[in-house]
Amino acid sequence: MNNTMILVAEDNSTNRELIRELLHARGYGILEASDGEEALALAKDNKPALALIDIQMPKLDGLQLVRLIRQDPEIRTLPTVALTAFAMRGDREIAIEQGFDGYVTKPISFPLLLTEIERCLALANNKQAISRSA
Ligand code: MN
Repeated sequence: MNNTMILVAEDNSTNRELIRELLHARGYGILEASDGEEALALAKDNKPALALIDIQMPKLDGLQLVRLIRQDPEIRTLPTVALTAFAMRGDREIAIEQGFDGYVTKPISFPLLLTEIERCLALANNKQAISRSA
């Protein structure tokens, strides 16, 4: 364990399992949610270091979820990476505009996913360092 907790919000159990194995192999701790409401509750209760969020989920979809995260004073700075099946041009812009920090298209490339996780964690650390020194 490297003490970094990642929330995985994904309704497809096969995808969740693959992501869990990958992250465990890299030493990350993981929290799993199978819908948007469960993910929001886990984020508020556990304050993970980052959230991977599927766009198409029941109850709250990924775009609704990230908007609620950004409005919540307790978790508004949570780094978020969108997981999406539609790789249409413009989707990345929509996800970023709605408040996501990163974006990975399905089928998920594990090297790309790890790179995006590390990039977003580093970005969050830099922001914290800047706000501490301000
Ligand atoms: Mn889904």
